[in-house]
Amino acid sequence: MKYIVVTGGVMSGLGKGITTASIGRLLVDMGYKVIPIKIDPYINIDAGTMNPLQHGEVFVLKDGTEVDLDLGHYERFMDVELTGDHNITTGKIYRSVIEKERKGYYLGQTVQIIPHVTDEIKNWIRRVARESDAEICLIEVGGTVGDIESMPFLEAIRQMHNEEREEDFLFIHVTLIPLDSGGEQKTKPTQHSVKELRSLGLHPDVIVGRCSEELKESTKKKISLFCDVPPEAVISAKDADDIYEVPVIFKKEGLDKYIIKKMKLEKRESNREWEKIVEKLKSLKEEVTIAVVGKYMDVRDAYISIREALKHAGIANNCKVKTLWIDSEELEKVDEIYIECDGILVPGGFGHRGAEGKIKAIQYARENDIPFLGICFGFQLSVIEFARNIVGLKEANSSELAETEHPVIDLLPEQKDIDKLGGTMRLGEIEVSIKKNTIAYNLYKKERVYERHRHRYEVNPDYVSLFEEHGLVFSGYSDNGRRMEILELPDKRFFFATQFHPEFKSHPRFPSPPFIGLIKSALEYKEEAG
Ligand code: GLN
Repeated sequence: MKYIVVTGGVMSGLGKGITTASIGRLLVDMGYKVIPIKIDPYINIDAGTMNPLQHGEVFVLKDGTEVDLDLGHYERFMDVELTGDHNITTGKIYRSVIEKERKGYYLGQTVQIIPHVTDEIKNWIRRVARESDAEICLIEVGGTVGDIESMPFLEAIRQMHNEEREEDFLFIHVTLIPLDSGGEQKTKPTQHSVKELRSLGLHPDVIVGRCSEELKESTKKKISLFCDVPPEAVISAKDADDIYEVPVIFKKEGLDKYIIKKMKLEKRESNREWEKIVEKLKSLKEEVTIAVVGKYMDVRDAYISIREALKHAGIANNCKVKTLWIDSEELEKVDEIYIECDGILVPGGFGHRGAEGKIKAIQYARENDIPFLGICFGFQLSVIEFARNIVGLKEANSSELAETEHPVIDLLPEQKDIDKLGGTMRLGEIEVSIKKNTIAYNLYKKERVYERHRHRYEVNPDYVSLFEEHGLVFSGYSDNGRRMEILELPDKRFFFATQFHPEFKSHPRFPSPPFIGLIKSALEYKEEAG
């Protein structure tokens, strides 16, 4: 097994996750089997209870683990399906050490960070690598070198490095090269962060310099000299127009060749699959605008999988997708809304803040026959909108949002006795059955699909037949028909919503069917409107 470790210096938010995913892509393109592991040094067991305003979107894996959004990048870039094992947190490591201590596993010993916690980390990494049948294990250490939380992880990696053969380990350090007021590229922050790394016993083999422009030869030379890496191992990572371009940029910089040489990997012919996608993405001319009505509008990353899935569906439909981010609370303030767009998407969400604004946007989409996709909370709010405005149940609501005589969206029965909030929703990949002769079947072309879930509430089964009598079609269901999963309005251009999150399974080369449907309809709508 070969290990590539990616660390970050200077500051957070440098795109370390995309860098890691892009390195993975380069290796995958050369035919290597790669397994990524993300280390998140926070004490939370997982990202499930974190506010998207702080950490961005919570990504959901197949097995239902709620993780950092970087794992979404890994899956999209590297064509892998990950599980909770591929995300190590301080919470998980300590939990496991403490459980062992209680069982008497360390009998007689004083349990300490070194060796017990570091052993736990090393064993975890090696086990996941071994069980994966991969050739290369790619490890991203979250946070910035020097953070207290990441110390035990970097120490464990230092020990592993000593225990493995030299050519089986490669360290890639991602740093920032800022420009001064005169536009000069500054290397001092990089020098400092490499010094910090060295003080922990780690030495970078490759330095990826993030900069708003291409690194100059002189900058590369300086970094090479001060940080003790050859100039060819200083990689210029200028801000890309699109994240999918990063592997192509790295390839041009020769990163793939350097990794092969340094790790004594055999040379394999690399395919051009990824480059073709990037070329296609860059050549798109036509554009549609999709309004995303949500509540975490100040954070770019809060709806990252939605944004990517829209882009993927654009590639499939030969068009660019522009996203118009609309704060649902703003919609609550106006009597009559007008949104200039070719389609509307209401994504997942929690709690009553902004919910009425989202319902307003759904009503606006339905009444004006604007292509509409609702996801999870967006699905539930579409049911409420339909109940209120078509069926005439004015009080209809979700029991998550208000006490009401018509809880058309209600708590899942198995959730009633749950009092812990971490990891307890209906989570992960679940089979969904699709009815024939529906929009859903037209999109998926299958009677059974597997999509990822993350919710506590659902359509109240007591109201299903009433809604169907009024024209709502539940075209997808699970648990033998007990649970509604997809809804559509056949008399509309495209009015479609899912209880699950299709965005989590969308890849650049395998776009998600509901998103393809939305963009296709948005294109037609735009053309009709002239
Ligand atoms: N708040 C809703 C629920 O818990 C929807 C969740 C979501 O959109 N992910 O069911």
